[in-house]
Amino acid sequence: MSFDKASVRDAAVEGRRVLVRVDFNVPLANGEVEDDTRIRAAMATIELLRKRGAALVLVSHLGRPRGPDPALSMAPVAVRLGQLLGVDVTLAPAVVGPEVERMAGQLGPGDVLMLENSRFEPGETSNDPELARRLAALADLYVNDAFGAAHRAHATTAGVAHLLPAYAGLLLEREVRELTAVRDDPVRPLCVVLGGAKVTDKIDAMERFLEVADEVLVGGAMCFSFFSAQGIATGDSLVDEEGVGLAGEILRRAERSSSQLVLPVDLVLGRELDADTEVLGLDGVEVPEGWMGLDIGPRTAAGYAAAIGAAGTVFWNGPMGAFELEHFAAGTRAVAEAVAGASATTLVGGGDSAAALAGFGLADRIDWLSTGGGASLELMEGRKLPGVEALMDGSDVRGAKTERAAQRNAEVGSDG
Ligand code: ADP
Ligand code: MG
Repeated sequence: MSFDKASVRDAAVEGRRVLVRVDFNVPLANGEVEDDTRIRAAMATIELLRKRGAALVLVSHLGRPRGPDPALSMAPVAVRLGQLLGVDVTLAPAVVGPEVERMAGQLGPGDVLMLENSRFEPGETSNDPELARRLAALADLYVNDAFGAAHRAHATTAGVAHLLPAYAGLLLEREVRELTAVRDDPVRPLCVVLGGAKVTDKIDAMERFLEVADEVLVGGAMCFSFFSAQGIATGDSLVDEEGVGLAGEILRRAERSSSQLVLPVDLVLGRELDADTEVLGLDGVEVPEGWMGLDIGPRTAAGYAAAIGAAGTVFWNGPMGAFELEHFAAGTRAVAEAVAGASATTLVGGGDSAAALAGFGLADRIDWLSTGGGASLELMEGRKLPGVEALMDGSDVRGAKTERAAQRNAEVGSDG
């Protein structure tokens, strides 16, 4: 499958300032980066740009602050990135503004400036044109390597991309290529495994998967929306009320669909979401009062593993249970092992699914481990990602559009 957007590989960057949108939304613990997978995933693009003599201005969001929040500063990220690159990475005191512009203006070839958390600016999520304009003033070119945020139309992922010549980073390009190839031409049967806790987000995707997949296997907290819609008792399980109506609709559609919607047949229950809670295996799915479903049971896990083993393509998003707790990890482990051992082409998306695979030591046995959870789902569904759509078409790289964009940039006040 061809990727029709302009690539950073074709950008003339020597002596120019490049604003790079990265996905450094990493977990922090005690003021340090706990897992630097996402930082390392962007290294290829960063190294390429530095080697070609560009000055880099990096921007990412981190968590969900609603304004400046010292606990979600990019400071630990800048430190970790500096260690990985072996150079000093300067941290800007804000996302935009005169001081940031001054710092960006002083960068030489190979220098790296990290902007503060983009969500310190309320205009980020509202895709405020003024914020986009001030971001564009920091650089001559824009590169988006944040696949994990490409499904959001924010100022750093979409707004600014329309104001500068905009290129795809190496990671974003590879993500789109790998996922699109499987979406458009999967080896059958295509088996989709959906779990996790973000039920409303994923239930939307399920509607689409019932059209394109041969089987959709459901685990995680998501199954309780389906059970609830069927009138089955869910006890204290995590039920997304909004998801229940959608689940009912999907169950009706599934009856008419040629693809199979598969729900758990047994569960592992706990009293509460706690490592030391009382545990009960349930051969069935009627959850009694005072209990919550926290994992799929062994019969379900074996059935899912068999389906994965027989598939031509597997797309997995979302753990089968509260795998962070040992008592409720077996279902996710069984699915992870089946996916790792499958002869199928295997794709996995979602931060927690990736963390589970890494914890089981199976991450390197997946064909494509996506850095995007929501983004990989939306792409597989067949939706257009705003962060990708905003990039220049590859055919325009040497064409007039680039010139026009460069001119526009001169007008917004960057002197290159
Ligand atoms: P991903 O990051 O892979 O997209 P999600 O963020 O949607 O996945 O969900 C992951 C979280 O879902 C995990 O923290 C896991 O503990 C939780 N989870 C899975 N199943 C259950 C369940 N039955 N009850 C409560 N939480 C669950
Ligand atoms: Mg998650």
